[in-house]
Amino acid sequence: MPERYEDELLSEEPLSDELLSDELLSGELLSVEGLSVDYFDRAEPVHAVRDVRLGVRRGETLGVVGESGCGKSTLVTALTRLERPPAVITAGSALYRPREGEPVDLLRADERQLSALRWRHLAIVFQSAMNALNPVHRLGAQFVDVLRAQRGLSKKEAQERAGELLGLVGIPADRLRAYPHELSGGMRQRATIALALACEPELVVMDEPTTAVDVVMQRQILKQIGKLQAEFGFSVVFVTHDLSLLIEIADRIAVMYAGRVVEVGPARQLYENPAHPYTAALRNAFPPLRGPRRPLTGIPGSPPGLRHPPAGCAFHPRCASRFAPCDTEEPELLPAGAGEAACHLPTHADAPRTEEAPDATD
Ligand code: SF4
Repeated sequence: MPERYEDELLSEEPLSDELLSDELLSGELLSVEGLSVDYFDRAEPVHAVRDVRLGVRRGETLGVVGESGCGKSTLVTALTRLERPPAVITAGSALYRPREGEPVDLLRADERQLSALRWRHLAIVFQSAMNALNPVHRLGAQFVDVLRAQRGLSKKEAQERAGELLGLVGIPADRLRAYPHELSGGMRQRATIALALACEPELVVMDEPTTAVDVVMQRQILKQIGKLQAEFGFSVVFVTHDLSLLIEIADRIAVMYAGRVVEVGPARQLYENPAHPYTAALRNAFPPLRGPRRPLTGIPGSPPGLRHPPAGCAFHPRCASRFAPCDTEEPELLPAGAGEAACHLPTHADAPRTEEAPDATD
């Protein structure tokens, strides 16, 4: 890492009284402030996530959506502290407030604190179930290992609980004898979700958990996640590129573009009445999972490279609503309706319009 950036890295200072009292009042399970992540793989860093502010309430599902390369996976990897070089968390805090025990800033937690939090407080489900399941061990052995190590159950108790957990996601208990490769893709993914819930965590982060399965299986998995959440009361951060899917399961949605949150708000309002043109474009690019069909329109161009993002609003080269300030002034995330949006439209309503149509190559 270039020496000049080392000062920017996180200090190991204790949580400030101000941070603690603010968050204790807010009642959020996880409160993220000013989170930034850079990739230091060349002389100039890539700002993959910039100044993200988000809250996850108890028992809610927060959807995080955006195209590939918008920073959503980098964000959740940093929140779960699974970031690996050249990714470096350069700023921010992520205050996790367990039901029992002291609040912990995940971004400053050391390995000992993190291993105490994983499984029992914080679990993650990846896109590929094979990343979570060991291919050379039977499913049952993997559940039993986790349940014995993390919850101190006896072997017999762990085996019984493993069967119950599989039952919760619609898999017969006799499949505990199977190796992961003997299960279908959908079954593997559901087994991974059951494994993530083995220690009844308070927060489950799901990074594109249904991307690798077909639509029918996707619906089944979403339904089961909803049922499990109602039963156990955990919060979910659900990452996907498909906004239509989120409207099925999310209470609130955060839309990411070029490493920033550009809109956040209650799911239904954000979907039906988006404040940010990128949210509207994403919505129109995916078919709704239910309701009448509507014509789909792609988004011109592709997300910007994060090494040299466009000046002003990073979406301006692709935005049909762009106007004078958009090319030079970066909009802040400000209140818009019941949520927040980073767009000049509401604040510069009188500014002259840009004549040109959006050009994918801008
Ligand atoms: Fe479009 Fe301008 Fe809003 Fe950016 S700030 S989304 S370019 S209208």
